[in-house]
Amino acid sequence: MKIIFATHNPGKLKEIRAILSDLGIAVIGAEEAGVDQEPLENGATFAENALLKARFVLERAKEKAWVMADDSGLCIHALNDAPGVFSSRWAGEDADAEALVPHTLEELKDVPAEKRTAWFETTVALISPEGQEWTFNGKVDGTIAFTPKGEPRPKLPYDTIFIPRNFSKTFAEMTDEEKNSLSHRGEAFRKLKYFVRKNVDLFSK
Ligand code: IMP
Repeated sequence: MKIIFATHNPGKLKEIRAILSDLGIAVIGAEEAGVDQEPLENGATFAENALLKARFVLERAKEKAWVMADDSGLCIHALNDAPGVFSSRWAGEDADAEALVPHTLEELKDVPAEKRTAWFETTVALISPEGQEWTFNGKVDGTIAFTPKGEPRPKLPYDTIFIPRNFSKTFAEMTDEEKNSLSHRGEAFRKLKYFVRKNVDLFSK
């Protein structure tokens, strides 16, 4: 069995392959499925964006297959839950990923340690080849550091400033296994994995 993961982000593809490795399902990226364009992510919620990304790839993939997509972001309490669905572009539409962390730290420059609470959230959408849809959610609470620490994963810049609750290291200082066991995406994809296991008959049709 094969699932297309509707992403062009190599960092995410690697994470998801690791999380789903024991399912015995091949996970291929959007490009490998023949889709090089990306939809406009104009949903108001993570779920809306995840669904629109998955539908976009389902309609264009060169072969009919199951498709999953995720949408995620960082939400900071002191900034009224921003950047949320704007996490990849709130430093400006043309700003690159390297601008996101300095922009976030600047927005938080007057916010003391105890008020720097935040969470990462992911919604994963799963669509069957016939268009039936499901969503799964994951969240991880933490705080935003004052300075970046660790090596960021490709296109996941906030890892260097996010310290999950009850830990003293940032996500960027953790191994993939450590991060996946705690992360928003890890939780959402584990829910998807549980669903796939319970419904194997759906996938073997
Ligand atoms: P999307 O799910 O690709 O739309 O992600 C939106 C934004 O959230 C991107 O800019 C990512 O950098 C950021 N993001 C989502 N998950 C993570 C994570 O695990 N670490 C760091 N940044 C993340």
